[in-house]
Amino acid sequence: MRCPFLREAQVKSCQASPFRKMIVRGDETDGERCTSAGWRDCPAARQLSEEHPSRTRCPFLHESLVQYCGAAPVARYVPYSESAFSLCGGDSHRYCEAYLGVAGSPAPAAAGRAPAGSAWGIPVPGWLWFAPNHTWLDETEDGTCHVGIDAFLVRILSPVDRVQFLTTSGIACPAALIGCGPLDVTVVFPNPLVLTGVNGGLRAAPGRLAADPYGLGWLFAGRPARRETPATAGLRRGAAAVEWMESEVVRLRETLEAPAGRPAPGEARLAADGGLPAEGLARLLPRPEALALLHALTHAR
Ligand code: SF4
Repeated sequence: MRCPFLREAQVKSCQASPFRKMIVRGDETDGERCTSAGWRDCPAARQLSEEHPSRTRCPFLHESLVQYCGAAPVARYVPYSESAFSLCGGDSHRYCEAYLGVAGSPAPAAAGRAPAGSAWGIPVPGWLWFAPNHTWLDETEDGTCHVGIDAFLVRILSPVDRVQFLTTSGIACPAALIGCGPLDVTVVFPNPLVLTGVNGGLRAAPGRLAADPYGLGWLFAGRPARRETPATAGLRRGAAAVEWMESEVVRLRETLEAPAGRPAPGEARLAADGGLPAEGLARLLPRPEALALLHALTHAR
């Protein structure tokens, strides 16, 4: 499905002028010189010669079809033949910053897609596939895939300080290094994809990963790599994903409350209501314990 903000327009411009300014057709006023016999009085047209000029219309008036983004604060017209808006014509628009800024993030469920669920307050969008190692996949009808890490893992890592992409192109299991404080954790999506892009903006603004894990915090874009290994192999979604996420919350809570891992007095490993792990838990734990916990979460199969 194409982006609802992608617009097309017929524009005109002057090829005799040293400066190219595009004007959307329909903005012309009565008596416009370019589309009347008055063009012969135009100083710009007079400097150039045309062998068999039309009497009624300037030969240097050029009209073309362009595309532009209706969600951008300033319209930038791009010739229809260029590929600048190629992502806007498909389902990838659901991860566009301009689109999410207007439509809200995560992108609203498209028709026919399950609505968002929740497990102990952790959002579990119904249209996403979840892997046991807390990565998610959005595979849409046009075959585009987006990959990220889920809100549960993000809560433990939050705030995220660094994002480094370990795979950027070709056929690979998408892998990224996520850094929070002195800790680095490698996250690998379990199934191979043909990688077509990464969310490079996260390098400069890694905080987006924690602020919006299912929208602006996406990590990789791609397509399914092989028919015999579907991108969704071994993943769950919908009610099964909610049930699994609930079990993950309970499992972690029991680990944190177990006698061997009983927190020192005053050390808040669980949120105030005692249900969820504390935000930024990885930084609260002793380093060996934090690394063991992150390894267990991100290497689960
Ligand atoms: S730039 Fe983004 S919001 Fe604008 S048309 Fe393309 S996908 Fe839509």
